Amino acid sequence: MAKRIKIGFLGGIGEIGKNMTFIEYGDDIIVVDAGLSFPNPEETPGIDYVIPDYTYLKNNAQRVRALFITHGHEDHIGAIPFFLKDVDVPVYGSPLALGLLNNKLGEAKIRSAKLRAVKDRETVNAGKFTVEFVRVTHSIAGSYALSITTPKGVIFMTGDFKIDHTPIDGNRTDLARISEIGSKGVLLLMMDSTNVERSGYSMSERNVYKALEFQFDQNRDKRIIVATFASNIHRVQQIIDCAVRHNRKIAFSGRSMIKIAEIAKQLGELSYEEEKVVDIEKINKIPYDRLCIISTGTQGEPMSALTRMSNDDFKKVTISNLDTVILSSSPIPGNERLIYNVINKLCQKGATVVYQALSEIHVSGHACKEELKLMFSLLRPKYFMPVHGEYRHLKMHKDLAVTMGIPEANIVIPELGNVIEADKSGLRKGNNVPAGSTMLDGSIMAENSEMLLRDRKLLGVDGFLIAIVSIEFDDDNQPIAPIIITRGINVNEAFSEELKDDITAELVRGTFNEMDLNGSKQFLRKMLAKKLQAKLKKRPMIIPIIMN
Ligand SMILES: [Zn+2]
Ligand SMILES: [Zn+2]
Repeated sequence: MAKRIKIGFLGGIGEIGKNMTFIEYGDDIIVVDAGLSFPNPEETPGIDYVIPDYTYLKNNAQRVRALFITHGHEDHIGAIPFFLKDVDVPVYGSPLALGLLNNKLGEAKIRSAKLRAVKDRETVNAGKFTVEFVRVTHSIAGSYALSITTPKGVIFMTGDFKIDHTPIDGNRTDLARISEIGSKGVLLLMMDSTNVERSGYSMSERNVYKALEFQFDQNRDKRIIVATFASNIHRVQQIIDCAVRHNRKIAFSGRSMIKIAEIAKQLGELSYEEEKVVDIEKINKIPYDRLCIISTGTQGEPMSALTRMSNDDFKKVTISNLDTVILSSSPIPGNERLIYNVINKLCQKGATVVYQALSEIHVSGHACKEELKLMFSLLRPKYFMPVHGEYRHLKMHKDLAVTMGIPEANIVIPELGNVIEADKSGLRKGNNVPAGSTMLDGSIMAENSEMLLRDRKLLGVDGFLIAIVSIEFDDDNQPIAPIIITRGINVNEAFSEELKDDITAELVRGTFNEMDLNGSKQFLRKMLAKKLQAKLKKRPMIIPIIMN
């Protein structure tokens, strides 16, 4: 049988987060991105983040030739420190993406990673594949689409992109090269679906400046705190430029802000004069109206600098009516409650909070409908697969592709774990591979995460009860009073005594004499559960401890 190109989806499909895709031909596999996602704390209490299940790649590690990264966002690089421990391959990406990755690898104590920085239009050979890095604009500098030449044709992956004709660093989406690639023929296009619901074009990042300028003019006598994503280096650059022009010094606040600013400055992606920056520890020496603090925390993240300021938990900055706080971002769906909580607290402390004015100018990092159409027009792919989106995005992107002239039969909406096979005769679903979420508890992979989460939910809602029961009697042949310990359940002393009396009655009756340890535990668990259910309508976790 002739060999086919296989494209496997380990993440980023039916979700926005933890992107990971592999492409396989014969003995060669290449991987594109390995990201993480932040789970809903209500669904997965205590789980900090999740990474893709890459068992298939681990089992085929000797065939994996390289990992290619499109850009340095967490949903594209966050799982790499884990992945490289299992599959040690060279990693190719922009200097900034690798700089951010290197920082993570340092934290994970991985020192031997083979990081290879690439330039615009650079090509890399990996097994039977040749991968070209094609510049695109996005909400982080150093973003690339990948044009992957395979023995069966070219696969073009846009990565996260928009078409910004006036990016802050002047590095535009390389439409000339994309058009050339299109004219030579593209077998398969995989494209970012995040903003497919939005008509028209995304705004240029440059438009943010005017809105910032307006706020700086309006708040001349205040200390200004601007919160933004640390990785949005172009936004950070614009805030710096605006502050400097308004004769203010800059202080970076928040661990990731300080770290990323440092990495970006070293790489020349961020430029400012060192004398314009003051250490956050020394801001008290600067008058309020001469200072601009650039902070993390746009999404109300609990440990971020802005959230801690709102909770009076950030020693270096005390919020008052002398502060104007600008949130230079829009909420990621799902984070609204956290964000509004922070905004409310900042307002309570007297600060002026600007959060609508800037989000009205929606400067997203992802292509809107007209930009997606332009990509279809330039690349004219034979086959299409929408990626990087929830299911409704993928479906809408499929419909868009049909209006752009791609026959429905040539489009597949992939699902997690799907391996799609492609050749000149069509796309078809092959055998699935394992896929899903590996949960990270702290920074360790959670063993048996299903049970862990079930227990946590149970504890969170219903609490627990421990019954310590001695089955032997004391020297006077009297039963020893059992001990009951509860947490998180509404048990008063009288009810606790009632439970103890019931257990004592069973001891006197000799109920446990004929039972083994497990039987006794089970009996106690059942008996106590029944009582708790009857009285409290609750099903707490019950832990019997038998002593003899
Ligand atoms: Zn992304
Ligand atoms: Zn991105």
